Amino acid sequence: MSIKDEFQFIQKISPKELFHTNLRVGIGDDAAVLQTEENYEQVVCMDTMIEGIHFTKQTMRPFDIGYKSLAINISDMAAMGAIPKFYLVSIAIPTSWNETEILTIYEGMDAIAQRYKMDLIGGDTVSTKNDLVISVTVIGEVEKGKAVLRSQAKPGDIVFVTGTLGDSAAGLHLLLHKCSDFPHHDYKFLISRHQRPSPRVNVGRIVSQLGRASLNDVSDGLASELNEIAEASGMTIVIHKKFIPLSQSIKNFSDDVIYNWALTGGEDYELVGTISPIHFKELKKKCEKEGVPITEIGEVHPPQSDFVIIERDGRHEVLNKNGYNHFKKGD
Ligand code: ADP
Ligand code: MG
Repeated sequence: MSIKDEFQFIQKISPKELFHTNLRVGIGDDAAVLQTEENYEQVVCMDTMIEGIHFTKQTMRPFDIGYKSLAINISDMAAMGAIPKFYLVSIAIPTSWNETEILTIYEGMDAIAQRYKMDLIGGDTVSTKNDLVISVTVIGEVEKGKAVLRSQAKPGDIVFVTGTLGDSAAGLHLLLHKCSDFPHHDYKFLISRHQRPSPRVNVGRIVSQLGRASLNDVSDGLASELNEIAEASGMTIVIHKKFIPLSQSIKNFSDDVIYNWALTGGEDYELVGTISPIHFKELKKKCEKEGVPITEIGEVHPPQSDFVIIERDGRHEVLNKNGYNHFKKGD
């Protein structure tokens, strides 16, 4: 797409109505101006998706690319216990993409932005030689001191995870390989888990109000996220393989493949965290009310020589960031 008509393009993507009245200046000036709220802290994050690395025209339609590029940032807000409010978009457009496709990417972003009542307040538009790059920044807020950090796991905490794991990797597999005899309903479910992740903002909010807890979103895979929590908290986490929540749809694959995806596939955008047993009871009740599945998968221990350990059939193995690969000494 040529961006000679950048001005017209920006007009087309500018929101007609806004959700938030504390936006003093939105799109149209050199920068946006936000009135900050008393007793709240701002939470800011950014994630980038690159054609050929995070998606291709084969795995994602333009609408999905927009939807997911904002969803993954909303998921970071969820993992902080924050409420997402505003977003900015930097897009580098190659000539191989036409204006209709780019506008459809914005429609995808708008679809999820409407759901979370978020306003588009700025961005940047440039052209590039080869692949499309879309970078989204989200600004949110959380009550002072209530942001949920990775470093807050304590011995005795319960380790929990929302939803089911591995579905996104299974969906990507289905998109990349012809699996013509795969059950239609399961196919639909798994690819939608890849293309349109549902960030767990409501769960993040519940956790932030309950008190001390740690939280991370599953972008790189359960193994990686648990190691980050254990490392940041200086604790050892033990999880039990048989408790890892799986969807019915993923059970069309073999066990080895399933657990590899569940532990290291990533992009599920579920929340994983730790919280005291008393608060977990409350969290579980509140999640049930919201219709969000939440599962206890392990517990936090005082620091040992390894950060994360997975128990399967009574045997303990070290779980590294990229999966389990060797037996713990003494087993
Ligand atoms: P400047 O030259 O001051 O950087 P731009 O022409 O880049 O201004 O942008 C004009 C306005 O449009 C700014 O408010 C900017 O935030 C917004 N904008 C530019 N590109 C995008 C985009 N891709 N998505 C959303 N807003 C954009
Ligand atoms: Mg600019």
